[in-house]
Amino acid sequence: MSAENKPNYFWSILTFKCPRCRRGDMFSNKNPWHLKEIVKMPEKCAECGQPFELEVGFWYGTGYVSYALTFAMSVATFVAWWVLIGMSTEDNRFFWWMGLNAIFLIVMQPWIMRLSRVVYLYFFVGYDSNYKQTDVKTFDYQTKDYYKKDTGQ
Ligand SMILES: [Zn+2]
Repeated sequence: MSAENKPNYFWSILTFKCPRCRRGDMFSNKNPWHLKEIVKMPEKCAECGQPFELEVGFWYGTGYVSYALTFAMSVATFVAWWVLIGMSTEDNRFFWWMGLNAIFLIVMQPWIMRLSRVVYLYFFVGYDSNYKQTDVKTFDYQTKDYYKKDTGQ
């Protein structure tokens, strides 16, 4: 696989692709608003075999990512509102923003939950252009560290 074929980092995150090969899907159902399957993931990447849940409870850390994303999105809607509609202390425009932003964040919640998992896993697993030959990254319960498992294959 040549470097030119390396899928874009941000695009891979936004399309919820596996961090290791950037080709396999991280979620079973493509639609995040299919509420029963928001965080339903295959155990491993169908393309490169990378496990997604690196250790038991791995996804607890996504709470922080989710807060950060929610905050960043609120800042973005605030700025967009300020530019497009404006803010004033003499009317209710600020409260309209607060209400609509809250609704927006609730509607976007399934998407944010997924994005948090993807961003979080990207911290731990890097792109591997040679993913067909090399070993997957996983967690060692003995050393409490992430390492490349020697599968002996
Ligand atoms: Zn993969």
